[in-house]
Amino acid sequence: MERTPNNMDAPVIQIEDLVKEYKGSDGTIIRAVNNISMSVAAGEIVGLLGANGAGKTTTLRIIATLLRPTSGRAEVCGHDSITDPVGVRQSLGYVSATTGVPDRLTARELLTSFGRLHGLKEDAIKDRLEWLITTLSLRDYIDRPAGRLSSGQRQRISLGRALVHNPPALVLDEPTNALDVVGSRDLLHTLDHLRESGHAILLSTHRLHEIEHRCDRFVIINTGHIVAVGTRDELVGNSGELEDAFFHAIDGEAHA
Ligand code: ATP
Repeated sequence: MERTPNNMDAPVIQIEDLVKEYKGSDGTIIRAVNNISMSVAAGEIVGLLGANGAGKTTTLRIIATLLRPTSGRAEVCGHDSITDPVGVRQSLGYVSATTGVPDRLTARELLTSFGRLHGLKEDAIKDRLEWLITTLSLRDYIDRPAGRLSSGQRQRISLGRALVHNPPALVLDEPTNALDVVGSRDLLHTLDHLRESGHAILLSTHRLHEIEHRCDRFVIINTGHIVAVGTRDELVGNSGELEDAFFHAIDGEAHA
């Protein structure tokens, strides 16, 4: 459903009955995503959790229009990933641990060119750059070629690239992977601010302790399908940690 000023409760990110099958090298079919439905509202951070190979990256890449689903639907701000991929990309920022930052470009050059690609005017790009420099603490190295930056600094530039057009939705695939504890904390604080300003954020991570008290809801998947959904309190109950609930969800599934 398209989000309009009269309809601000509609989900920003929505997937329905999503299925993705890959063909293995021996011709067998691998069902990486098996009937997943979920949504993320404005001002909400949802954590997508699962063991290696559970189907997280595949799901996030479908939302970001980088992969076509076998069946089902993915929408961002009412734009369908298959029939309106440009609408999706205008409404979405996507960052993965492997999002590239060209070595020869400075962050300023990269972010400026992405601003232009998104159709922003030069004045708007300048304002946006200033916001990104402050929000992501890029000032010390904004004019240094990316090839001379640490992986954490490059990761921040990737986030800047995803945010340059101020999209209402953010999809982040293991965003703190390359970051040290300080870098992770800063990035997660940035996500808190983005949530407060109404962004809808869907992120995957294996670092449960980092997001345990940060996400509004969690979706736990195993071998391509959802095994648990809820707030931290709903999943964990009165005692224990998110990790316990995670193991419970995927072990229960294994023994079912
Ligand atoms: P991780 O935590 O290791 O990043 P993930 O949850 O992101 O894992 P996916 O990368 O989505 O998992 O992979 C889901 C399943 O699909 C895995 O079994 C994987 O081997 C398989 N898969 C992923 N990409 C392909 C591909 N291009 N061709 C065939 N199979 C694939």
